[in-house]
Amino acid sequence: MENKTLMQYFEWYLPENGLHWQRCEAQAKTLREAGIDAVWLPPAYKGAGGAKSVGYDVYDTYDLGEFDQKGTVRTKYGTREDYLNAVKALKAAGIKVLTDIVLNQMMGADETEEVAAEENAQHNRELEVQENLTISAWTKFTFPGRKGKYSDFCWSAGNFSGTDWDEKTRKGGIFKFEGKEWSRQTDTENVNYDYLMGVDLDMNAPQTVQALENWGKWYLDTVGMDGFRLDAVKHISHDFYEYWLKQMRAYAGRDLFAVGEYWSPDLQRLLKYLEEVGDSMSLFDVPLHFAFLSAATSNGNFDMGSIFRDSLVKVRPDRAVTFVDNHDTQPGQALVSFIPAWFKPIAYALILLRADGIPCVFYGDYYGIPHDGIAPVSGLRALLKLRKDWAYGEQRDYFDDSSLVGFVRLGDEEHPNSGMAVLMTDSVAGKKRMEMGSRFAGAALYDALGRFSEPVILDEDGAGEFPVQGGSVSVWVLEPVYRAICTQIEF
Ligand code: CA
Repeated sequence: MENKTLMQYFEWYLPENGLHWQRCEAQAKTLREAGIDAVWLPPAYKGAGGAKSVGYDVYDTYDLGEFDQKGTVRTKYGTREDYLNAVKALKAAGIKVLTDIVLNQMMGADETEEVAAEENAQHNRELEVQENLTISAWTKFTFPGRKGKYSDFCWSAGNFSGTDWDEKTRKGGIFKFEGKEWSRQTDTENVNYDYLMGVDLDMNAPQTVQALENWGKWYLDTVGMDGFRLDAVKHISHDFYEYWLKQMRAYAGRDLFAVGEYWSPDLQRLLKYLEEVGDSMSLFDVPLHFAFLSAATSNGNFDMGSIFRDSLVKVRPDRAVTFVDNHDTQPGQALVSFIPAWFKPIAYALILLRADGIPCVFYGDYYGIPHDGIAPVSGLRALLKLRKDWAYGEQRDYFDDSSLVGFVRLGDEEHPNSGMAVLMTDSVAGKKRMEMGSRFAGAALYDALGRFSEPVILDEDGAGEFPVQGGSVSVWVLEPVYRAICTQIEF
C-alpha cells in the first residue's frame, strides 16, 4: 500500500443537477493520472431530501436513484445507471471505490406509529425527564415507490431505539422508545451519544442487524465496491461494525478496506475505539486535522515541532487516514473547522509527502468550492504528482524548531530522480540545514512549488541550507522533477 492516495470525491455544495456521477465517470482517467488510487463516493441512496439530499438523511438504501420516491427518481448525484457507470469507469481506470455507509439514522418515514416512550435530557441521555409518554413517531418505512423490489423488508418502530420528534404534540426532544436502551458501546458525550438524529437504528435488535447484513450483501453484489467509509461510528455500537465488516469481507471473499469517521480530536478515544472494534477498520486522523487548525490560527505561535504529537498517524500509522478538510468541516457545515488557505499547502505537504498513513484529498480543496468562492488549493496538484512519482525512500525528520520544520525523503532506486527536501514554517521566512546523504552529493535542487527560482547546491555530504518563505512550504527536488512539474502542472 506504499504511497496510496485517497480522494473524497464530493463537497457539500455540489450543484443539485444530477450530473455528479457523470462528472466522476468522465474524470476517472484524469484522476488516476493525477495520482488518485481510490475514491470515496458520497452516499448513493435516496435521502429524505430527495434530489437535494447530500445523502446523510437516509431514506431508502435500496434506491440508488431508480425509484420515484421523495419527489425524484435520481438522487442529487444522478441515476442508478449513472452511478454504476461511474464505478465501472473508476475501476477500469485502476481506481478503487469506497462507498459511504450511513447506518446510524434514517429519516423521512412514510408513516408514523404510536410508540410508548420516555423523554431523556438533551445533555444526559441516560437521564429520564418524562415517563409514560405515547408519541407519534416517524418510524414506518414501507417504500411505496419501490414496491418491494430487491427487498420487501419494511422498517418499523421495533428497529429503532428512539427519535427527536413527536408528531402528535409537534414537539422536539430526545425520546427513547419503551423496552429499548441506548447502546453503551458509543461515545460518552451527552453521557451517551448513541442518538444523533432522525430515527436511531437499534443495533441490539437482531432483525435490524439482519436487515443491514442483507442490504450490505445486496450492495456488494450491485456495486462491487472495494471498501467503505463508515459514517458516524461513534454513535453506533462498536460490536455492530466489527460484526458487519466481518460478514461483508466473508461474503466478498476479499479484504475490503474500511475507514471510520469517529469525530473526536482526542487521540485516546480513537485508540480505544480501534481496540474495541478489534482493528477491523482504519480511522480518519481527526486530531491531526485539529492540529492543522490550531497551527493555522495561532499567528505563527504554534509549536510546529509538535504538529504530529497527538495524531493517529504518529501512533498508529497502519490505521490512519489523514486529511485536511471534508464535507463537514467546510464553511456552513456541521463541524465547520475549515483550514485557512495560507496553511493548506503546508498541511497537504505534511500528509502527501511523508511515508505514513493514507492521505485523503478533499474534492473542495482539489476543485475549489464555487458556492463559497473558495479557490482550489495552490500547489495541490503538484504535491499529488510529487507523492506519486518521487516521495520515496527513507524519511529523516527535522521537527526540531517551534516554527521552521522539515523532512527529507532520500529516494530509492526504483523511482528515478526520487527524493526531496521539504521545508515549511508557520512564521517568518528562514533557512534550515538538512542532509540527504551521499546520493545527493553536489546535486542542485529546485523548488517544485515555484517559490524560489535559484537552486540550492548540496555539498559533498548531500547537505544544504534550504530556504522557505514566511507562512509557506517549499519542496526541493532534482532538476528533471522540477521540469516535469513545471511543464505538466498549472499552479
Ligand atoms: Ca446510534
